[in-house]
Amino acid sequence: MKDPGMYRKIDVLGRIVIPSEIRKSLNLVEGDQLDITLDEGRIILEPANNSCRLCGTRSDLKPFGDKSVCAGCRQALIAQEADAFIGTSGLAAVR
Ligand SMILES: [Zn+2]
Repeated sequence: MKDPGMYRKIDVLGRIVIPSEIRKSLNLVEGDQLDITLDEGRIILEPANNSCRLCGTRSDLKPFGDKSVCAGCRQALIAQEADAFIGTSGLAAVR
């Protein structure tokens, strides 16, 4: 993902500002932690698993794959998967 419109300068202390559009799309707020890794010359910033990746809630987090989601979003995801499974497996007629 290379967006030619987003350049930021590193300040004297080594800090950068993450563009607000990116912070909003990832539900990042002040105090959130980011995992920082180096991969073949690229700096990768990823939200740490301390908030729900879907709604940003910080309480009642549960692992879902390699991400954290809150209990409410997890239930919604599971219900959505169950509906998709029932719809494609032909079990819908049994309901
Ligand atoms: Zn959530």
